[in-house]
Amino acid sequence: MDNQEPKQYQKFDWEEFNKKRAIEKEQYERISKEIQETQERSKQTLDSLEVTFKNLDEAKAQARQTVDNIDKFKKQFSDAMDKLLDNIGRSFGANIIKSDEQNPKTAQEVTVEQAQKLITKNVLILCGAGLSHASGVPTFRGKDGYWTKGKDTFECQKVLTKEFLTSNPDLCWEWHKDFQKMLINKKPNAGHIAIANYKKKNPNTLIVSQNIDNILTSILPQKQIKHGHYESIYEIHGNIKYMRCSKECTLEKDQLAILYDMPDLTKNLRPKCPKCGEDARPHILFFDESYTNENCRIQELQEKYETYDTIIVVGTMLETGCAKSTVCKFIKKKAIIIEINPEPIIEVGNTYQIKGKSEEILPKLLK
Ligand SMILES: [Zn+2]
Repeated sequence: MDNQEPKQYQKFDWEEFNKKRAIEKEQYERISKEIQETQERSKQTLDSLEVTFKNLDEAKAQARQTVDNIDKFKKQFSDAMDKLLDNIGRSFGANIIKSDEQNPKTAQEVTVEQAQKLITKNVLILCGAGLSHASGVPTFRGKDGYWTKGKDTFECQKVLTKEFLTSNPDLCWEWHKDFQKMLINKKPNAGHIAIANYKKKNPNTLIVSQNIDNILTSILPQKQIKHGHYESIYEIHGNIKYMRCSKECTLEKDQLAILYDMPDLTKNLRPKCPKCGEDARPHILFFDESYTNENCRIQELQEKYETYDTIIVVGTMLETGCAKSTVCKFIKKKAIIIEINPEPIIEVGNTYQIKGKSEEILPKLLK
């Protein structure tokens, strides 16, 4: 007999086992939860980073846009101010050329002979693109308001901005090159000649031109006062014949900007300032710029208005600030206004309209 006691098998402790399982399960769940939480936090961090990057990109784009838009904003602001002033002016009966309920139409259509008798001794002649139209110079308006280069077409009002010169200098200069080329064979028409002859006979005639084509200037009695500016004519929008320093290196306060002859742009598309070597820029008033005394003697011009009691307005729709405000000043002081336009636009003031083309009317009116 084997006395040995039967081997006792240890009883499996299910209770203990389950307890351990429960603890392990709990640990596992805790770790899983922690992992999940970490994952979520990481995802949130990533998301917020993405938002931050997106914001940064947007901020960057906005900043860039802001820089790009400063000039545009200035222009829009000044346009808005013009409109505001126009509205304020309208309520006070000023700065308007159109009639309305408070300002009935006073302009009347006259013949050239009738107008001739109205002209006083001190005459200001304000001319616009319509004057050079008969010489074949585009007016920058309507279908003339576009410029085609290669297969692209641009609005002149966009190309002729300081913003465009800065962002697309080559293209902007290309426009000037094309304009310079276009002008080569353009000759003064009968309207230009009539004004030049009148100025010769009446030296105190004040000529204010919005044209940059140099055609009228080229046949006026030449008396250069300083730095390329002429005594005989105020070219309020500049002159394509000239350029000046883009950095205004020669400009001193209240001094006239020094003008340099524009080179042949087919040979030298991006001319430099002869004095400092920086980029030069065309001596024209871009659509997004304001008139300054240094560039177009605007203050000096306005101080002269007092002496003049007749204004002859030729070939302009008065869409630019200076031209319109000039006419308004003459309306306010009840001066004689003679308007020559195919479709006259000044309806108020002491205004006499002659419907027609400047090259046909001016030779008869100013003989
Ligand atoms: Zn310079």
